[in-house]
Amino acid sequence: MVGQRNTWQRERVRDALAEARGFVSAQALHATLRDENTGIGLATVYRALAGLAASGEADSLQSPEGEALYRACAMEGHHHHLICRSCGLAVEIEATAVEQWARETATQHGFTEAEHVVDIFGLCRSCAAARA
Ligand SMILES: [Zn+2]
Ligand SMILES: [Zn+2]
Ligand SMILES: [Zn+2]
Repeated sequence: MVGQRNTWQRERVRDALAEARGFVSAQALHATLRDENTGIGLATVYRALAGLAASGEADSLQSPEGEALYRACAMEGHHHHLICRSCGLAVEIEATAVEQWARETATQHGFTEAEHVVDIFGLCRSCAAARA
C-alpha cells in the first residue's frame, strides 16, 4: 500500500498469525517474531493485529483474564469459538440457539441493533487427556 509505512512488518505479523495454532496474544506473537530475529517491536505487533482485526482479516476476542487474543480466522461473518485455554486450539462454531436467544432477549427489552460476543473457553480433548 502506497504511503503506508512498515507494510512488511504487518505482512510478517499476518504470516506469523496464520502459522499460529489458535488464538494468541500480541506478546506471544511478538516472542515468536523475536525468536526469528525480525526486529519487530511489541508496539508494532499490537498495531498490526488491531489493523488486521479491524479489516476483518483476523478474529479478536478477550480471554477470561481480559487479555486480547487474535487469530487468522477461517470463517467469514458472525460466528463463535470454542477455545482451549491450555494450548489455544480454536474451533469455529455456529450457534443458532444463541442467535435466537440474543435476538429475542434484545427484543424483549426493547433493544435494536443488538450484537453479542460468545466464546467458550475450556480444555480440548488432548489437553484434558494429558492432564488425566
Ligand atoms: Zn473465527
Ligand atoms: Zn488444548
Ligand atoms: Zn452469535
